Amino acid sequence: MVDISNFLKKIFKLKKDREDGNLEKVQMATNTRDQQDEKGDTDPSNKEEKSKSTYKRLCLPLNYEELSRVDRPTLGRYVDVVVFRAFVFSIIKYLGFNSTHKIYSAGKGFGKSLRVRTMDDLIRYFRELGIGIVEVVEKNPVLRIRIYESVFCSGFPNIGECVCHYERGILAGCLENILNKKVEVVETRCCACGDDYCEFEVRIPGER
Ligand SMILES: [Zn+2]
Repeated sequence: MVDISNFLKKIFKLKKDREDGNLEKVQMATNTRDQQDEKGDTDPSNKEEKSKSTYKRLCLPLNYEELSRVDRPTLGRYVDVVVFRAFVFSIIKYLGFNSTHKIYSAGKGFGKSLRVRTMDDLIRYFRELGIGIVEVVEKNPVLRIRIYESVFCSGFPNIGECVCHYERGILAGCLENILNKKVEVVETRCCACGDDYCEFEVRIPGER
């Protein structure tokens, strides 16, 4: 459904200029962050419990710190966005019922594992991880967040459908840590709908 031919043409072009180590800073900041995340992760001295908690959130036998370890001396830690997009969008059809919500939930788990505590952290993480450039365009009465150059959809043709379910999940996970409450994130504008950016509305269940 999604035409990614333009990205396939670039798949073997390595972006060495991006291998300048910014992600190492993110990893180190995460490793040294001692803020507590959620129940069951309240004792920073218990590293085993902390690791298990992160493991549960990611639903993988690896936590975020372990996922961040990369041993690719020639290719580095970056990969063309087409590989990432192909993975996310091709797996949706294998997830069956409610697949987009499952992708959203998976993104939420990843977002929570980042242990973001402030909006400035969120903006910095999204940029350093290459997810997109975040701008908060409205705070009241609704929190509205715009993302430019989305790793998921920038450059997509207009297919009339918002497609950034994993991205809004990451946002939701980060925002739940920042706001310390449950949130739902809805994508209201998307490059896949002909917009120049993606825009997300943050809803607090029970408050609207
Ligand atoms: Zn989008």
